[in-house]
Amino acid sequence: MATIDGLPPLRAVIAEHGLSARKSLGQNFLLDLNLTAKIARQAGDLSACDVLEIGPGPGGLTRGLLAQGARRVLAVEKDARCLPALAEIAEAYPGRLEVVNADALELDVLAHLTPPVRVVANLPYNVGTELLVRWLTPPAWPPFWQSLTLMFQKEVAERIVAQPGGKAYGRLAILAQWRAEARIVMSLPPGAFTPPPKVSSAVVHLVARPEPLYPADPETLSRVVATAFNQRRKMLRSSLKGLSPDIEAHLQAAGITPTERAEQVPLEAFCALARSLDGAAS
Ligand code: SAM
Repeated sequence: MATIDGLPPLRAVIAEHGLSARKSLGQNFLLDLNLTAKIARQAGDLSACDVLEIGPGPGGLTRGLLAQGARRVLAVEKDARCLPALAEIAEAYPGRLEVVNADALELDVLAHLTPPVRVVANLPYNVGTELLVRWLTPPAWPPFWQSLTLMFQKEVAERIVAQPGGKAYGRLAILAQWRAEARIVMSLPPGAFTPPPKVSSAVVHLVARPEPLYPADPETLSRVVATAFNQRRKMLRSSLKGLSPDIEAHLQAAGITPTERAEQVPLEAFCALARSLDGAAS
């Protein structure tokens, strides 16, 4: 069957290179090239960007990104078994695909990228949240990336875009939405993957804000939010009392009723509370 790029279908690639999926590496492959091209399109115009892809596996999404016109793709794959299949893609797109055989949690990707950079990945579930948190908490803002287009388990995707008032709202929502605009752009059933995972998945598109939505010191905000949500059922005047002897006054200065619970408090008020605790005007 003809493919979008003239390379063999992914099932044939997997059979030829013996790429049986390994659970320990979070391997659930996307084999439909129309679907991977659709995911690549969610990332916007890639023609002037370097794309960082974590976990290319047999290369379905990599091929989608290149077919959609990405200037260059840096693909970081831990599983050396995938390298010959990825080398075939690099050959079909001369000078546009660099493959690095490394653990994404350890590699200094900046040494391999030229701005502007967009990140697009069908992440291994076991490292997805950790990578997202790292990308959202660099030493300086704005970060090295313009946007992140990432596949997550649906439940994690919902936590990233959650609004106050529900169980999904917590640290991840606040961290993501403080520094980025985040929305779910696609939902995928387990059957879209080979082998199918137990849960549904969703693609989240995050665009880096030029600066965080409201002023706050990142460390104070992170401490406040972690403390508040560690005891999310408690009233804030009680869960946060370890942060200051005057916590009720700080809560009121931030416009928060001290008897509220963490999941009712919008991002803006958490930032005001962080500023009040730091002694800044709110
Ligand atoms: N992108 C491919 C696709 O969409 O079909 C594969 C996605 S699969 C969910 C995750 C991929 O990440 C696997 O190829 C796996 O080997 C790779 N991987 C797992 N842990 C990794 C890590 N720490 N660093 C880099 N790659 C990793």
